[in-house]
Formats: sequence, C-alpha cells, structure tokens
Amino acid sequence: MNENTTFHYERNCSLKPFNTFGIEAQAHYLAKAEDIETLRDIITAEQFQNTPVLFLGGGSNVLFTKNYFEGLVVLMQIKGISVLKEDDTHVWLQVGAGEVWHEFVLECIKRNLGGVENLSLIPGTVGAAPMQNIGAYGVEIKDTFDSLEAVDRKTGQLRLFTNADCKFGYRESVFKHELKDQYIITSVTFRLVKNPTTYTISYGDIQKTLQEMGMQTPSLRAVSDAVIHIRQSKLPDPKQIGNAGSFFKNPVISQDLFEKIKQQNPTIPSYPAETGYVKIPAGWLIEQAGWKGFRVGNVGVHTRQALVLVNYGNGTGEEIRHLSEIIQTSVKERFGVLLHTEVNFI
Ligand SMILES: Cc1cc2nc3c(=O)[nH]c(=O)nc-3n(C[C@H](O)[C@H](O)[C@H](O)COP(=O)(O)OP(=O)(O)OC[C@H]3O[C@@H](n4cnc5c(N)ncnc54)[C@H](O)[C@@H]3O)c2cc1C
Repeated sequence: MNENTTFHYERNCSLKPFNTFGIEAQAHYLAKAEDIETLRDIITAEQFQNTPVLFLGGGSNVLFTKNYFEGLVVLMQIKGISVLKEDDTHVWLQVGAGEVWHEFVLECIKRNLGGVENLSLIPGTVGAAPMQNIGAYGVEIKDTFDSLEAVDRKTGQLRLFTNADCKFGYRESVFKHELKDQYIITSVTFRLVKNPTTYTISYGDIQKTLQEMGMQTPSLRAVSDAVIHIRQSKLPDPKQIGNAGSFFKNPVISQDLFEKIKQQNPTIPSYPAETGYVKIPAGWLIEQAGWKGFRVGNVGVHTRQALVLVNYGNGTGEEIRHLSEIIQTSVKERFGVLLHTEVNFI
C-alpha cells in the first residue's frame, strides 16, 4: 500500500515490457488492477483525480509517442473464466478482462467450444478485444460476443453492455467513439458453440494450409493450428521485432474512387463493403507507394508485410509516428486515399 491510497503503485517505471512496440517510455505511476474493488479504489483515489490514467492490457495496440507518461498506467489483470449458463447447443463463458486472449482461445479449444479459433494468436487481453472488435480470417469477436461488464470511470458503477450497445464495426466499437475513455472493461461474455461441426475456413489460406498439414476433416484444433501457422509465417513476432500488428485500417472508399484507381492499377485487390463502397488493403497501397522494407534509423516498414511498422530497437514512438505520417501523405498523394491508424496513440 502507498501513503493515502488503498492500492499499491510504483513511481517512474519503464513501460518497455508493457508495449509490443518495445518503446522505452516511462510512466510517472504504475499500478495493477486484479479485481473490480482495486479498480474502484484507483478511479476514486483523491491523489489521482487530476492525473491522466491509462488502462492497459497487453500493450499490443498502443504507441507511446512521448518518452514520459505524466500520469498513472493501470495494468488490467482481472482473471477468471466461468460458465454463466449453457443449453443444448451453446455455452456462455464469462472471461476476466486480464486473461490473455490466445490462452482463452486455447481454453475454448480444450473445452471443444467453437467460435474464436480463427482468432488464434492475436496478442493482447480479452478486455481490450471489444475495443476494436478484433478480427482475423473472416471472423470478428462480435460473432460470438454476448455482452460485457465495464466500470464507469466517473461513478465506479458496473454497467452491462449487450452486443448491440457496443456498436461493433470493422475495427470499431462505441468505446472508440461516443464512450471513449469513459468505461473500463472488466469482463466479456462469449456465446460459444458446443462440439462444433462446421468451421470458417474459406478465408485466406486456411483451407490450403489444412490440406498441406494433411487434415482431411477440419477440427477446432486443426483450424487453430492452421491459423497459427499462417500468422507465424506472415507477421513479425513482437518478441523478436517490436510492432503492433496492422498499423493502419484497410480503407473503405467510394466505388467511383476505386474505379479511378483501378484504371491505373488493374491488379488492385478489393473486398466487398456496403453498397457504393469498396474495401481495399492498406498494405497493398503502402507497398505500391514504395514503402515496403523502408528503414529510417531505428524504425521502418516490415520487409514482408507493408502494413506493419516496426521498431528495430531503440526507436522512439515519435519516430514511428513521424514515419506513419509520411506514409499517409504519400498514399494520399498517389491514390487520393486517406489511411486511418488502427493503433492507439498515447
Ligand atoms: C503481431 C500482432 C498481430 C495482431 N493481429 C491482430 C489481428 O489479427 N486482428 C486484430 O484485430 N488485432 C490485431 N492486433 C492488435 C492487437 O492485438 C489487438 O488490438 C488487441 O485486442 C489489443 O489488446 P491489448 O490487451 O494488447 O490492448 P492494449 O494495447 O493494452 O490497449 C489497446 C486500447 O484498449 C484500451 N484498453 C485495454 N484494455 C482495456 C480495458 N480492459 N478496458 C478499457 N480499455 C482498455 C487501452 O487503453 C488502449 O486504448 C495485432 C497486434 C500485434 C502486435
């Protein structure tokens, strides 16, 4: 315990172990929240009323743009997985915000529960997953998401959010917009399929990889293994080279603009979007603009995946931010498309 507070915190702590970019930033104060009571104590602590407070999961979707965070960083470590209810076909699992996402996916596979296997190996925590409706290989968490509980940062009260309340979209939720910085997610409840017999394997290389692995009939474990295999071959491991996955979102552009770009670039890939719009891969735009493999000092664009900005070691958040802005300008000038960042700037 510290003087004047009921919870423990430290001063002047390095945040390097807590962000996958491996940025060497410092926090003025650092605390852990392992339960809702501590969380309430933190948000009501008089000492921190006029201090910025950042709630952090695995730090895999943040960029510390300053060397020093002049406030309190709270590591979200509320654990626990429990069955809320079940019927003949589904199980509702309530999962603590601080559970590691991939470990939760593996636990579902162990219990033969389907729905999140395509999201294997996504870094981070369960509590951060609804923030941007994490997705991969044709699946998003909104597909199995039932509800979540979150603490109101002003009142300390717990509120339940249904799937509709969260207003999920492509890498979007209400928590990035109307309710930004207003709630701390403490648990998420998923509705998972018991003993599944069908799988989402038409997306990306899953089917091909299953065949290469000699899997004639897919299973939960096989689909998860295939996804892990594909991800490991395509994405840099943050333990080896600092990164936060996709730095930008895939832009959704008007059909008219798409046709204009296509005239000059007949091979441009595209995905369906709402009527009159087309989604195009940001990585393709960045690569065409000549940035793939670009390196300036300690930071750069990954050599195999242009959507991933990397820290080769000792890079600063400011250097990465600067590089991202140059890329945005370059893509805008070349294609007329503005790239929006997926990573949260702190
Ligand atoms: C190699 C790599 C691959 C990736 N691949 C994918 C992918 O395929 N699909 C995908 O969608 N994402 C992907 N990501 C991004 C990232 O893994 C996800 O966004 C993940 O959900 C972030 O979780 P986190 O716990 O690390 O969040 P953090 O980075 O700690 O936090 C992200 C944001 O959420 C807030 N936050 C965190 N926890 C809480 C909470 N409990 N309550 C309220 N706010 C909170 C933080 O303040 C911050 O604004 C990838 C990242 C990496 C490094």
